[in-house]
Amino acid sequence: MPSATDKTQANGLANGYTAIAGTEKCLPTVTPGETFWQTEKDELHDHRSTEQLPEHSDIVIIGAGYAGVGTAYHLVKDYDAKSVTILEARGACSGATGRNGGHCRPDLYGHIPTYMDRAGAQAGAEVALFEIANLRALKKIIEEEKIDCDFTLTRSTDVWCNEESAKKAKAVYDRMVAENLDYMNDVIFYTGDRSEGISGVKGAKACASFTAGTMWPYKFIMHLVKLVVTAGVNLQTHTPVTSVEPCSQEQGGFTVTTPRGTMHAGKVVYANNAYVSGILPQYKKNIIPCKGICCRITLPESKEAAPLLTNSYINRTDENVLSYLIPRSDGSIVVGGAAAVFRNAEDQWYDNVDDSVLIDAANDYYTDYMQRTYYGWEGAKIDKLWSGVMGYSYDSNPHIGAVPGESDQYILAGFNGHGMPVIWLSSKEVAKMVMEDVSFDKTGLPGLFQSTQFRIDRALNGKEEDGDILGTGKSAATKP
Ligand SMILES: Cc1cc2nc3c(=O)[nH]c(=O)nc-3n(C[C@H](O)[C@H](O)[C@H](O)COP(=O)(O)OP(=O)(O)OC[C@H]3O[C@@H](n4cnc5c(N)ncnc54)[C@H](O)[C@@H]3O)c2cc1C
Repeated sequence: MPSATDKTQANGLANGYTAIAGTEKCLPTVTPGETFWQTEKDELHDHRSTEQLPEHSDIVIIGAGYAGVGTAYHLVKDYDAKSVTILEARGACSGATGRNGGHCRPDLYGHIPTYMDRAGAQAGAEVALFEIANLRALKKIIEEEKIDCDFTLTRSTDVWCNEESAKKAKAVYDRMVAENLDYMNDVIFYTGDRSEGISGVKGAKACASFTAGTMWPYKFIMHLVKLVVTAGVNLQTHTPVTSVEPCSQEQGGFTVTTPRGTMHAGKVVYANNAYVSGILPQYKKNIIPCKGICCRITLPESKEAAPLLTNSYINRTDENVLSYLIPRSDGSIVVGGAAAVFRNAEDQWYDNVDDSVLIDAANDYYTDYMQRTYYGWEGAKIDKLWSGVMGYSYDSNPHIGAVPGESDQYILAGFNGHGMPVIWLSSKEVAKMVMEDVSFDKTGLPGLFQSTQFRIDRALNGKEEDGDILGTGKSAATKP
């Protein structure tokens, strides 16, 4: 994979798409770099159900990642929907979902206190409970549909190696316990010398753990793709949508334009995450494409197996560099993050859709990560390193529901690098809104996730104090 400085930044225009004025950056690059997860492409990766686009579909979904395919699954399984098309710019599941860390970890206390401060204890807890429900629903569906995707239900261990950060984390834990939240009974927190022995992480000053999951996201989604295509959903890969225009009042619906022609849609679901502002410009300051990195680490075959890691991890070093990590049943590790290492190299990650290149500033960070972090991993090395594009929202909550001010258009996007424990039930609720025409408050979605004109305007007006991109320390409002 070339590095960022080897190559000028690719974008929609460079790739020959007809880009929309002012939104050129918001189409996926044609040639994403390789990832471990997609080493073997699924037979439906480049699938087109029909040679030409259908003339009409009752529902057109834009994007074949977790959000788009999840919505299609619920449309056909829960409602027996018969006229659904998915338009995908590249191969199926080639966006963030096919390039992520495989960590399905509900947020129980990370950003939840911030949400509580902003919107009250109940609104914050609602998010945590929704994410816990997602994990359980995922386990259930994976078992019911017999999906071979290496899913595990495990404990996620949070580790703090910096003394000050460990103290702050303990204070947050104490605050959450004091909120009398039942789900906090699943969390156990340790401080002091025993933290290293309990977590297994060198230099740990505090650690905590709770129930989470790990999986092979590409296999999960491609299994669902097979189910929905078999059920009659028309999948059109390598078909970027460049615009969606309302038709005349008599005709109703929308004209969806792609370089392969146009089609008519009764309703449109925008499931194109980081790239949503390419078609809905009002989200330009609400959902910003931001790159991250991830890698797979293995031991040389000659070496005896390293000590088994059965938990997943969020590790924070003494310098407060955060990494998410999952162990795999083949003995390898998938680990990513390190945003603090490349934060200053903004041109390489912020408002950037080029996942054909890495992030130079972070190329070496994971080279000896396992031996730096755990005992018994000497000789470990990177087998594959890749980048991916996430949709960071202005206020760190996804935008879900009816597109404000529009009829028959729905969005689920802006998952802030944290879609795995959020999207499954979100897509179920979006399918409900599409099919039953119910309002957001009649769904089980957390109120903070609703895409509203207020949230759109707040980001467009760009008051710095209102915005934050959690986990990066950046405010979308400070950027052009
Ligand atoms: C490196 C990395 C690591 C991550 N690790 C984790 C993790 O461990 N845990 C976690 O919870 N989350 C993680 N995430 C975030 C997670 O992957 C996302 O939140 C989730 O996959 C978003 O799913 P999605 O379907 O909304 O988006 P995507 O998977 O990006 O799907 C959107 C799709 O839309 C297509 N598209 C875009 N524009 C158009 C258009 N105009 N026309 C047609 N198609 C279009 C894209 O090609 C893409 O396939 C990570 C992300 C990255 C990049």
